This record gives sequence, structure tokens and C-alpha cells, in this order.
Amino acid sequence: MRLRTLRARLTAYYLVFFSLLFVLFSIFLYGQLSRSLVARMDETISAEADTAAGLFPDEFQEMKGDADRAAREVVSEMKLHGDRIAIREGGRVLASTDPGAPPAGARRTSRTAMAGVRAYQIEIWSPLDSVEAELAVVRRLIFIGLPLLLAVAGVGGYLLARRTLHPLGSMAEQAHRITGSTLDARIAVEQTAEEVAVLATSFNELLSRLDQSFDSMRRFVADASHELRTPISVIRGEADVALSQERGSAEYRESLGIVLDESRRLSRLVDDLLNLARADAGHVRLQTHDFYLNELVAECCRSVQGLANTKRLILECRAGGDLQFTGDEQLLRRAVINLLDNAIRYTPAGGKVTATLEAADEGVALRVTDTGVGIAAGDAGRVFERFYRAGEARSRQDGGFGLGLAIVKWIAESHHGAVECASSVGAGSCFTVRLPR
Ligand code: ADP
Repeated sequence: MRLRTLRARLTAYYLVFFSLLFVLFSIFLYGQLSRSLVARMDETISAEADTAAGLFPDEFQEMKGDADRAAREVVSEMKLHGDRIAIREGGRVLASTDPGAPPAGARRTSRTAMAGVRAYQIEIWSPLDSVEAELAVVRRLIFIGLPLLLAVAGVGGYLLARRTLHPLGSMAEQAHRITGSTLDARIAVEQTAEEVAVLATSFNELLSRLDQSFDSMRRFVADASHELRTPISVIRGEADVALSQERGSAEYRESLGIVLDESRRLSRLVDDLLNLARADAGHVRLQTHDFYLNELVAECCRSVQGLANTKRLILECRAGGDLQFTGDEQLLRRAVINLLDNAIRYTPAGGKVTATLEAADEGVALRVTDTGVGIAAGDAGRVFERFYRAGEARSRQDGGFGLGLAIVKWIAESHHGAVECASSVGAGSCFTVRLPR
């Protein structure tokens, strides 16, 4: 039978332990008692035998050498309290309290008494009846006491277990009341035993972590919906206007161009969101292989060259010589493009963007530096947060969603690396991705 509740289990353990203890204690006590009763009996018959052995020669003398009369006299004079005596000369019984031989199992002792020139044997024995009777009383007490004691121990154990486990029950009740919308509630820690308080504190810490991640999830969903709303309303508005009356093909073309631009933005945003959600869920497995990181940086520079030209920026690529690296090429390409894209976006015409790759024994440092608008000190620490835009109006107008750097950070961390930002307003920014080799 499996006991389902902890209370029942504790009571059962308590009962088993108590019964074992009681049985062992009873066995020990019973053994001690029976040994001491038998020892006391041995002492008594020994003392009686000594008395009889001392008495017999005197009676023998008094009876003028009549051994039979002397023996009868001794037997009648002895106060034996239920013990038995026999005086023999060789095999012949001179006098005895019992006609037969001592029963098997009786305690017995004997002495030799010299009277005249002969030796006489004095034997005293005691049947074990009195010891047996006393032990029977003790046995009865044990057999009545055991169930009584177990009943008391069972009730006591149950009450004790209930009292000990009460704080757990109240904790479970409090935890039961906490729902997704009341994650800020906490379990009361005061006035509980230390072990339960540790459990309650750990549970509260878990709640705090859950609360934080729920909070950031809620924020993420709210931000994402907010970001999705803008391109969707532009698309809808443009379609509404275009369809409100008959228009020329140039106007339709212009509207469709806007719809296409916004759709592209929308699909970029959905891609980014999907990537971050997959990364959060741990569903992205890196497709690692060996490749030349310098070539990857050079390719990225080439792919944004057009953009830099459009903005009349100087783009310099210092990728250096062959640098073999093991990692996810696609993801790292994405990170470099994001950094270059930002640098170009936030650098005014005439400025300069530089991509540098440096190798050391312990790892590589990939740096994208620009002479652009820079980031205020207060914003620099937060630009890696999702949907965070430094200089809100400026960034939104420049078309970013505030997810690019969050993705760069995730890519760096998934390669066991890190990304950092150094910037000063008006002077430019420097983003460094450090990756271990
Ligand atoms: P966005 O898509 O808005 O550019 P990012 O995550 O890439 O989002 O960047 C977050 C914010 O950091 C941007 O809104 C921008 O204000 C700031 N930022 C990023 N890179 C640069 C840079 N090279 N120079 C100045 N500001 C930058």
C-alpha cells in the first residue's frame, strides 16, 4: 500500500520507529528481569543450603549419631518459603520435603556436611513457578501496553505531522491563488520554520523571475504590435486613397511603390521578431563551419557600398589577411550587415564608416566605427534592448525598428562572445563584437 500524503507517511514512519523501539526495550527489560529473578532465587537456595549444612552436624550430635532423626529435625526446622530440601547419605534419602526427585528446570544447589565419620549430601531446589508467575504478569503488561502505546503514538505522530506540515499547506494555498495577472503577489515568509522559509523565499524568487520575464514578454508583444501597426496603417491608407476614385496609372504606380516599401519593412520586422522569438525559445541551432572571417567582412562591406555611395560616405574595409573562424556564417554576416547598416544610417553625408577585423590568440575583435551623430551616454547602455531607439524621432524617421542591435547581441552571445558600444554625441560611434576562437 502506498501512502499518498506526507502526513500519513510521517505518521507511519513514526509508528514503525516507535514500535521497534518499544519491542526492543521490552525484550531487553524482560531478559534483565528474568535473569535477576533467577539470580535472586539462586542466592536464596544457596543461603538455605549453607544454613542446613551448618545445622546438620549439630543435630547429629544432639541425636547421638542418629543420622535419620538429625536429618528429619533439620528438614522440619528449615524455613524454606516454598523451596524443597533432601538430605541423603550416598543414594539413600534420610529426610526430604518432597518424595520424588527435583523436577527438570528447577534451580538446585547442594552441600556436603560431615557428621561423625560420614559425609551427607544436602540438596535444596526451587521450582521456577514463582519466577514464571512474575514473568507472566510482566508479559501481560507488555502485550496490553504495546497496542495502547502504539495508539497513543499514532495519534501523537499524526497531530505532530499535521502541525509540522501546516505551513506547507498554507504555502500551497497562497501559491494556488497566484495567477498570471497576480505575479507580483508573494508568499508570506515570516513566522515559519527556517526550512519552510527557505522554500518560500526560493518560490518568491522564482515568482520574481517569472514576473520579470512575463513583464518583458508583455512589453515585447506591446512593442511588436505597435511597430506592426504603422506599416499596416500606411498600406491600408494608401490603398484606401488609391481606390477612392479613378486614378491615372502613374498615381497607381506611386501608391503600389509605397505599398511595396511598407510591405518590405513589414516582412523585415516579422523576420526579426521571428528570429528573436526562436532565439528566446532556444530553437535556433547554429550552423557552424569553418570559413574566412576577413572574407565575410569584405563581402559585407561590398554589399553596403551602394548604400554608402548614395549617402556620399567613405566606406573603409580593414579586414586584413586570412583569418579562419568557426561559427555560423549566415548569422555573423547578419550581425556585420546590421552594424554597417546602422553606421551608414546614422552618419551624415561626407562622413566615414570603417570596418576593422583584428585577431588575437584568445579571439577576434570586429569593429565598426563611424563619424556619425553618436549616441548620448544615457542611451548607450540601452541600445541593445529590444525596440529601444536612441533619439526616438530620428531613429523612427530613419526607418529602424530598434531590433537590429538586439539581434547583433544575440548573435555574439550565441557564439559565446559579446558586443559593446563606445560613442559620443556628434563625434561618432564604435561598436565592437568580440568572439572567442
Ligand atoms: P534601429 O533599427 O532603430 O537602428 P538598432 O537596434 O539597430 O535599431 O539600434 C538601436 C538604436 O541605437 C537606434 O535607434 C539608434 O538610435 C542607435 N544607434 C545604433 N547604431 C548607431 C550608430 N552607429 N550611431 C548612432 N546611433 C546608433
